[in-house]
Amino acid sequence: MKHREETTLPLYEYDLISVGGGPAGLISSIGASYLGSRPAIIEHKRLGGDCLWTGCVPSKSLLASSHLSHAMKHAEKLGLQTIVPTENSRTALERMRNIRSKIALHDDPERFRKMGIDPHFGLARFKNPDTLEVEGVGTFKSKRIILATGARPKIPPIEGLDKCGYLTYENIFELEVYPNCIGIIGAGPVGIEMAQIFNRLGSKVVIFEMKNRILNEEDPDVSICMQNILLSEGIQIHLGNQIEKVKADGYKKIIITPNNERFIVDSILLATGREPSINTLNLEAANIDIENGIVRTASTLVTSNKGVWAVGDVNGGPQFTHVAEYSASTAVRNAFLPFAKSIEYSCVPHIIFTDPEISHVGLTSSQAESKGAKTFRVDFEELDRAITDGKTEGFLKISVDRRGKILGSSIIGYRGGELLQPIVLAMKHGLTLPQVADTVFAYPTMGEGLKRTAMSYQKSRLESPLGSILKKCITWLN
Ligand SMILES: Cc1cc2nc3c(=O)[nH]c(=O)nc-3n(C[C@H](O)[C@H](O)[C@H](O)COP(=O)(O)OP(=O)(O)OC[C@H]3O[C@@H](n4cnc5c(N)ncnc54)[C@H](O)[C@@H]3O)c2cc1C
Repeated sequence: MKHREETTLPLYEYDLISVGGGPAGLISSIGASYLGSRPAIIEHKRLGGDCLWTGCVPSKSLLASSHLSHAMKHAEKLGLQTIVPTENSRTALERMRNIRSKIALHDDPERFRKMGIDPHFGLARFKNPDTLEVEGVGTFKSKRIILATGARPKIPPIEGLDKCGYLTYENIFELEVYPNCIGIIGAGPVGIEMAQIFNRLGSKVVIFEMKNRILNEEDPDVSICMQNILLSEGIQIHLGNQIEKVKADGYKKIIITPNNERFIVDSILLATGREPSINTLNLEAANIDIENGIVRTASTLVTSNKGVWAVGDVNGGPQFTHVAEYSASTAVRNAFLPFAKSIEYSCVPHIIFTDPEISHVGLTSSQAESKGAKTFRVDFEELDRAITDGKTEGFLKISVDRRGKILGSSIIGYRGGELLQPIVLAMKHGLTLPQVADTVFAYPTMGEGLKRTAMSYQKSRLESPLGSILKKCITWLN
């Protein structure tokens, strides 16, 4: 509904307004339209958010090119002639941008208009608890506002950074060609995926990480396995190095470690995390509380303002597209229906799309074991499919309670992301490893890794006192 204000800019009223047109904002407005209401999206730049423009889509497109480039260089492993591709990054970047444009059609504003959703473009800021203003566009009022403004790169206080210039995920995908030598500060998922992209597309890569292992949030065995793979590919990794100083030197940049070691690179990529994007929203005007830079929400995702929910990367939860979508649908449900539902992260997986892939759900093995759980591990070299495909690096770990209920799983290995999906399904619906063992898996597939783990669990049961009695009975009967 549109009214006229004295200022000549219109006043719009909607049943629900999503601020931000990334995955969280798009899904919340789609959810609201499914419920028969009249929603709008206010987006600062383009629909699609980080995921489409500067995150999942460009990084996964480049990873696909970089992995093929690596496979071509190592084709002899599969009995084929090796080819060394050249000029990789320019053409791979071009392909990535074409793919991004293709996927952007899914987020075309016209598609949303056809669903009864009004997209508006501009920077939204709160005027009062149920009203937003967008400069040059109008005033927007709603009883239900979904904050979905995502996150932005966290820039650490490193001396000399501004003079030196640096890259983040926001501009790295816009380069025409990748630098000959790049220093990456931060060895989390973004830093490690980018390291493999650059290295496999021909750049020399040096990683600096302040913690004493890469991918610090992952199972330590997974981190070590990936670190060895990256080292074997020629990536340099400097752990326990909190970089506090960089310097420009003509066209080059110098990264200075706390021990005063100096590394000369062409570019610096900051992969030091992401923080909620809230500073232009004027949240005080809407009585929305912030805690440590994060919008404070209840488990139902409602903020301190009962008409505003915060979803996706902005609310400080796990920063993934599938979490953004899950939180968006939970918030929309709670915005329109009674008996609010809580968000539940315990069965939410994540994947790092390196080669090999890393994936995880639930508790890590050490967290699970501290609660009395047992962990079962299958190495990929035991799987026939991994052997036929020449992908024997890695392993699968599943931790289970006394009844065989799955508490968590970590995988590093070929198609590790796909292999995790049935484990997530089993975990979410309380299936036990004996039930998995009772299921037929096709041969030869990586999915057999799950079956093998279940069989190890069954074997361990036969080693218990009860199992010994059962074995004695079988011997006696036969
Ligand atoms: C390099 C990289 C790789 C990634 N890879 C993966 C992956 O493989 N899988 C995965 O699940 N996740 C991945 N992610 C994370 C994923 O991109 C985010 O979790 C996801 O985009 C979050 O969605 P969102 O809607 O919360 O925020 P965003 O996608 O950031 O969208 C927020 C939107 O809000 C807009 N906005 C901000 N402020 C305002 C305002 N005041 N007014 C109007 N609009 C505003 C922004 O312009 C933006 O379009 C990756 C991230 C990065 C950086």
